[in-house]
Order: sequence, then structure tokens, then C-alpha cells
Amino acid sequence: KSPKFKDPSLFCKSAFINNEWVNAKSGETYSVIDPATENEIGKVPEMNVEDIREAIKAAKSAFKEWANLTAKNRHDFLLALHSQILENQNDLATILTLENGKSYNESLGEIRYGATFVEWFAQESRRVYGDVIPSPFKNHKIIVEKQPIGVVGLITPWNFPSAMITRKVSAALAAGCTVVIKPAPETPYSALALAELAVRSGFPKGVINVVTTDKHIKEVGLELCTNLDVKKISFTGSSAVGKLLMEQSSSTLKNISLELGGNAPFIIFDDADIDSAVEGAIACKFRAMGQACIAANRIYVQSSIYAEFASRLADKVSGFQVGNGFDPKTTHGPLINQRAVNKVTRHVEDAVAKGAEILIGGTKHTGNFFYPTVLTNMTKEMVITSEETFGPIAALYKFETEDEVMKLANDSPYGLAGYFYSRDIGRCWRVANALEVGMVGVNTGIIHNCEAPFGGGSDIFINIKESGLGREGSKYGIDDFIDLKYVSMGGL
Ligand code: ADP
Repeated sequence: KSPKFKDPSLFCKSAFINNEWVNAKSGETYSVIDPATENEIGKVPEMNVEDIREAIKAAKSAFKEWANLTAKNRHDFLLALHSQILENQNDLATILTLENGKSYNESLGEIRYGATFVEWFAQESRRVYGDVIPSPFKNHKIIVEKQPIGVVGLITPWNFPSAMITRKVSAALAAGCTVVIKPAPETPYSALALAELAVRSGFPKGVINVVTTDKHIKEVGLELCTNLDVKKISFTGSSAVGKLLMEQSSSTLKNISLELGGNAPFIIFDDADIDSAVEGAIACKFRAMGQACIAANRIYVQSSIYAEFASRLADKVSGFQVGNGFDPKTTHGPLINQRAVNKVTRHVEDAVAKGAEILIGGTKHTGNFFYPTVLTNMTKEMVITSEETFGPIAALYKFETEDEVMKLANDSPYGLAGYFYSRDIGRCWRVANALEVGMVGVNTGIIHNCEAPFGGGSDIFINIKESGLGREGSKYGIDDFIDLKYVSMGGL
């Protein structure tokens, strides 16, 4: 039950700057807590502005050389890292479960998913093609080259402590950028383990830096956003912090990519294959205990199948084993901390007070554990409708018509992901087109993979909703780290 490492040297407890393992200049540290046992896992440096400046300096010094390598060179480094990740996947999963709590199997899944980005962007690095544009002038050529943007500051969340880093880092490195990573305070060890694997893969010094901090995050974040040597911020986290970072980045006109909150609608029409809709809802709602920005937050079920869907869903949920992620029987781990438990509790209590019924779950377990829950009789006045729950609460709303449900589904400032189940081909195209989100799952509850573009979308007036800017993964993801340079070549 207790975690065992094949290679304990992957469990790194210092920060990583210029290929050196370092402490905070102040000597401060903070404790990292195992969400399952609430015991301290270890300490890491509590870094401040001085330390992040060091990391930025290292990334800046490394930039020219890294950017000037051939694409094939960068491809080789990334592929070496990919192999290292796969070779060490068990230890990486152990670290992930230890600091995040998700079941060991889920952690292994995340490590493998995270590795796909490293492989993908290794390959993409060799396909950063420029353009030759037909000129309006004689004896003249228009040439467009693609250049790396520069030093990138990456700020990542705790819910996917490994994959959110590989998704950003590998695209940035493939483009020729160097990076300063600021992992979530709750989950620094996954980031540090990746840094150790980067050392083993031979990455030159300064290309990858990891700065850990908890209570100094505001000033460290401000420094990343305002430091002139940082050319871009790439952030995954809450919409509130995303907006703050954008505001802070304006003084230096930094390029910024944001993957923010969601409030995904998940619609089941009465012509759907109910078994597969239940399966999709389980995957979409309860993966990472619902602590995912693309998790279904509002599940809309057409009235004639509502009761059947609800009872089948509750039946599946009753088979979950909630527990310590290292217990092989565990299917679902704890939430990240008490703040998360309190939010989920508040959402359930609010819904019940306004008339929702608990079909299963609905209560806190011990510590950071919360029973996976199915709620019926949901109405739009309940807090869950407008706030991202980020927890294991399947909230079921009844609807009558397609028109009605589309209005409900789009009635949200968020526009990240949306899902629906139907076997009517006309409806599939219609609804996929009308959902105001960046990503649509049609007859599937799983939409993430390295090949596809991940990111938030806009409404019908093409106003960006509050789920972010830019795309990660896919052939588009590298563009977020690239600048265009146009060369006008005359006198030919
Ligand atoms: P959550 O509440 O789920 O932790 P956050 O958006 O607060 O979501 O956190 C996501 C990431 O943003 C974490 O790495 C966190 O440390 C970081 N963060 C939080 N506040 C700031 C800030 N003021 N400046 C920069 N980064 C921040």
C-alpha cells in the first residue's frame, strides 16, 4: 500500500535552475501534503522574486543556443525525454498519486498521456515550415519564417501535475523556446521529476528551469509577467488568475496563452444509446474525481429517458471504490484539499436546499474524501449551474426540446468543452455547430489527445468566452510559441 520507488532519485526535493538542484536563496521551504493521508510528503524550496529572476536569467542565457540548434537536434532531445518518461512511468505515477491523490492507474494513464505530447512535439519540431508568398512586385519575393518567441513562463495546476507540464513544455521547447516552469504548490514533485529526466536526456543547462513556491506566488507571478526577458506566459488554471496574469502582462505586451475554467454541458437526447451515454458520462464526470476543466458540470437528460439514465448512472457510481490511490482496489482517490471538499459540500447543500434529490453519495467521507454523487431534479437557480464544481458531483437536469437545451447549454460565460449523445445525424451536426465551446464530444465523453487542439472557444458573435486563449497540443499548439518574421526580398 505504501509507495515504493524503483529509482528514489526521481523524487527530487530541490528546485531546478540552470541544470542545478538549488534551494531558495532565503533558505525557506514549504511542506507538500499527501491529500489521501494528509501527512507531509516532504518539503520543497519556497522561492521568491530573487530566485525566479535567477531562473529567468538562466533561461535567457540558454535561449540563443537552443533556438539555433537544428530542428532535428531538438527533436532528438525531446525523443530522449519521451523514452525516459516511459522507462520511468511507474515511479512518475507513484509521485503523482502521492502528491495529487488520484488512483495509481489513473496516474499511470496521465503519465502515458503526458508522454504523448513529448513525442508529438518532438515530431512537430521538424515541421515548423515557413512560407513563400506570391509578391505583387516584379523581381521580389515575400518570405515568412517562423521563429521561437523567446523565454516562456509556464504556470500549471495541480489536477494534472505531469501532463499539463509536458503539454506546454514540449511545444515550447520544440519551437526553440526555453522555459521557466512554476508548478502548482500542491504538486511540485511531478515537475521536478520531469526536470531530472531532462537532465538524463542531456538537455543543455538553462533550457528547462523549475521554480517552486507557495506563499510567494503573487510576487513571483507578477515578476514572470513583468520581467522584460520573459516573452510569453502560458497558464492553465482558474479564470480569475488567468485574467490577473493577462492584466499584469500588458505592461510588457507579453504574448499570453490561457487554459481556464469550464462548465461543460453534457446532453443526452432521447435517441441516444443510453449505455454508451452512461459510460461516457462516467468517464467525463468522474475522471480525476471531477477535478478537470473539461469535466461535465451540467448533465442535461431528455425527459423520456431521464429516470432510466439517472438510475443506470447511480448504479455504476455505486461500484466505485473510493480510497487511497495506492490501494489496488481504489478506483477514485481523494479531492486535493479541504478547500475542494468545502466547495463540493457547499454545492451539494445548496442544490438540496433548493429541491435537488441525492440518488447516491452526497456526503463527505473522512479527510479529503467525498463520496461520488448523483443529484437529480437540478434547476438553473442552483449554484452548480453557474459555478464549476470541480468535484465528483453528477448534476442531472431534465429538458424537453432541443431548442430549450441548447439555450441552457450555452447560457454560461465559459466555453471550453461540451458533449452530447444522439444517433440522429442531422442533430449531431446541428448541435455540434451550435455549442459555444472550443471542443465538442459527440457520442464520446473523452476528447483529449495530443493530436487534437485543446482550448476554449467563443459564442455565436465570436466573442471569446472566459475559458481561455490559444490552443495546446495538435499541429496548432506549436504556433502559440512562434513569432512570424517576414522578409521582403527585392532586386532579384
Ligand atoms: P486553483 O484554485 O485550482 O489552485 P489557480 O488558478 O489558483 O487554481 O492555480 C493555478 C496555478 O496558478 C497554480 O500554479 C498557482 O500557484 C498559480 N497562481 C495562483 N495565483 C497566482 C498569481 N497571483 N500569479 C501567478 N500564478 C498564480
